[in-house]
Amino acid sequence: MKNDNCIFCKIANGEIPSKTLYEDEDFRVILDLGPATKGHALILPKDHFANLYELPDETAAKVMQLAKKMATQMTEKLVCDGFNLVQNNGEVAGQTVFHFHLHLIPRYENDGQKIGWNPGSPSQDELEEIKNTIV
Ligand code: AMP
Ligand code: ZN
Repeated sequence: MKNDNCIFCKIANGEIPSKTLYEDEDFRVILDLGPATKGHALILPKDHFANLYELPDETAAKVMQLAKKMATQMTEKLVCDGFNLVQNNGEVAGQTVFHFHLHLIPRYENDGQKIGWNPGSPSQDELEEIKNTIV
């Protein structure tokens, strides 16, 4: 299912051109236009799912298999030193395009990028309470 107002639907389905690294019946992998590092790419499902919560299990499984394949190929060809997979859900989490996508970010020694967080220091009691909230 496509969404007429969604730019990633148009890109994924070839209505808007992109630098495509890979395509099959379910996905297109494109170079990000605002890359964090050289080779930063995005896996886009061809169907419209706004985020991870909407992604069917079967598609989610295929996404991770494709991420592994692309990361392996890109690491070999780009000779990068490491790799981040990043996937944002919701504005507060940094999502700016509301069509599910997985970022493939090659990392290089001294690439100047920081992808991370400021670690907290919860007590064991706080961790226990959080665990009991989740499960
Ligand atoms: P996010 O912040 O996780 O929603 O990521 C959106 C990503 O899409 C950003 O890294 C943008 O640089 C990238 N982006 C936005 N528009 C395009 C486009 N037309 N082609 C390629 N990448 C895009
Ligand atoms: Zn879409």
